[in-house]
Amino acid sequence: MIHELYRKAGELHGHYCPGLAIGVRAAAEALRILEVEDIHSKSLCCIAESRACYQDGIQVVFGTTLGNGGLQLRDRGKTAFNFYDREKGRNVRLVMKDLPEGMSRDESTEFILTAPFDRVFSLTNVHFEAPGSSFGRKSGRVCPRCGETCREPFLRVKDGEIVCLDCAEKS
Ligand SMILES: [Zn+2]
Ligand SMILES: [Zn+2]
Repeated sequence: MIHELYRKAGELHGHYCPGLAIGVRAAAEALRILEVEDIHSKSLCCIAESRACYQDGIQVVFGTTLGNGGLQLRDRGKTAFNFYDREKGRNVRLVMKDLPEGMSRDESTEFILTAPFDRVFSLTNVHFEAPGSSFGRKSGRVCPRCGETCREPFLRVKDGEIVCLDCAEKS
């Protein structure tokens, strides 16, 4: 089962690597721990704490993607993942443990996918509140300078006008 998920994730990712395996295993464990029945539920989301190959494993296995707004990055430089089921109010954070020394790339991948849970991850409380479900769907307004519609978080006040970030940065 886990190898099947890993194979599927590799199709999206473009190659197979230990980083992808970490994302696949973390997401599979999160589905189990949070007792998720439907990975297409809009109530799922994940905040990853670093940027790497894991992201694609999470997108495929947990169903949260950059496109559907379910996957966010808050880079803390840690191999750690906050998983949420917003509807059920359940969440969990998985932190990757250091791998045993001296394993080849293939051995690491196999270890990550199949070693007992406690050898691969620690469990902690989540480090961030669950993101609002309106993520990515906020309404925008037209910037009076360039005429392009821009979403609220990117608007700035400049010389008494509400303009987009691009126009605000132009002197
Ligand atoms: Zn990779
Ligand atoms: Zn503008």
